[in-house]
Amino acid sequence: MKQILWFRRDLRIQDSAILAKAKDEVLPIFIFDKNILDKLDADDKRVTFIYNSVLELKSKLQSINLDLAIFYSYPKEVFTKLSNQNFDEILCSVDFDSYAKKRDEEISKILPMKKCLDSFLTNPINCLKKDNTPYKVFTPYYNSLDMITSSKLQTYQTPKTLKKISFDYSFVPSLEDLGFKKQVLPDFLNKTAEEVIDDFLPKMRTYQKDRDFFNINATSNISVHLRFGLISVKKLFNQMRDIPNSEFFIRELFWREFYNYILYHFPKSEFENFNNKHIPWRNNEDEFKKWCEGNTGTPIIDAAMRHFNNTGTMHNRIRMIVSSYLCKNLLIDWKWGERYFASKLLDYEASSNIGSWQWAASTGADSVPYFRIFNPYTQSVKFDKEAVFIKSVIPELRDILPKDIHTEYGLTNNLLINYPTPIIDIKESRLRAIDTFKHAKTKDKL
Ligand SMILES: Cc1cc2nc3c(=O)[nH]c(=O)nc-3n(C[C@H](O)[C@H](O)[C@H](O)COP(=O)(O)OP(=O)(O)OC[C@H]3O[C@@H](n4cnc5c(N)ncnc54)[C@H](O)[C@@H]3O)c2cc1C
Repeated sequence: MKQILWFRRDLRIQDSAILAKAKDEVLPIFIFDKNILDKLDADDKRVTFIYNSVLELKSKLQSINLDLAIFYSYPKEVFTKLSNQNFDEILCSVDFDSYAKKRDEEISKILPMKKCLDSFLTNPINCLKKDNTPYKVFTPYYNSLDMITSSKLQTYQTPKTLKKISFDYSFVPSLEDLGFKKQVLPDFLNKTAEEVIDDFLPKMRTYQKDRDFFNINATSNISVHLRFGLISVKKLFNQMRDIPNSEFFIRELFWREFYNYILYHFPKSEFENFNNKHIPWRNNEDEFKKWCEGNTGTPIIDAAMRHFNNTGTMHNRIRMIVSSYLCKNLLIDWKWGERYFASKLLDYEASSNIGSWQWAASTGADSVPYFRIFNPYTQSVKFDKEAVFIKSVIPELRDILPKDIHTEYGLTNNLLINYPTPIIDIKESRLRAIDTFKHAKTKDKL
């Protein structure tokens, strides 16, 4: 047997489905895909992270007498060239987003492809309701899963008998060769997944209570490593289940599963409102630009977006606040926000991002009721009372009393600071959103 092991979002050698299922002679490869890279800005932080991770994977594969052939090309070109070298098949892990599905369809016409489920705990095909239709609500979906209560999940072992195919493994492009500039990454991304988890373990006891306080580091920060498969989600699940007070954390992991499940069963939800409602969005481009730049005049929104633009990271609570503000207060289509997040989020994962944006817009599966609209000022006083986070991002506000920062129009008459006037009134825009959503019709009744 001669196989190509195509690493994509599973950049590890431990508990690796493709390594475990491989036989005899293998050619492990990674493709820096021009279809994806050509669309990114030269300062995209994710490329620095993936680049480092690919080099790390190469050296780990070498440590088990294998290697990694690196390509900078279009997948179709790579496999067309490899197709005349007597390979039996390509082994890779399954990916459900629309680009990945289209790409894999094309490649499977060149060489047979065998896909393993390796990025998620559950196979969306297996968890259906008694009537064989997919769940649309999280809790019954979650409660239906045997694995929550079953014994440890079986992890994969790499066979010791694998032989690397003789090939020119020497090509290692620099980041500059790929058209990118090396970026400074947040500290936790210079750590291994295991180190990130070790940092988090002492916080598990207080995770449920503290996870919403965005001025403290109370969550795991594991989403980026999970996204690129630097840790297997099965290994993470097994490890966490052994730890006291981890139930709430594990439930969060299953939101990731749920959104992947929803995207698998309802692929149209990538482009359309899941609930089929027609919302007459205002889609004001100037307001959208101000939201993106962090110039809305509402401190928590501006701090969140400026921090995001600088770092590519955003705390979950803040994601909820800025998405609610965009879809409800500004009445801008969730797809605009989803795309903006996709362009910068270090942990960008199509299914979680689409599902969470539809949740915030009250158009998705099991989403927030349309009349529950976050008041950004109430949120900031509740979760960042001393305005530590806001002041750390917006130095102009350093000497301002937290109570003025957390009060709508609290900064408007302050002549000593140069800060934008709020672009909308929170109460009025809330009522406007409720009215709009209340009267929204389902598409077939338009
Ligand atoms: C508008 C919006 C967009 C989002 N986009 C993404 C995205 O592109 N990629 C992404 O991984 N997460 C996304 N999330 C979910 C969540 O914000 C991040 O997973 C979380 O902030 C990552 O930080 P953490 O690893 O410290 O999380 P922790 O609180 O430590 O949670 C552990 C893990 O559980 C999973 N998880 C937790 N909450 C959620 C959730 N609500 N939905 C799905 N999975 C969850 C993640 O894999 C996370 O790493 C989004 C949320 C919102 C509201």
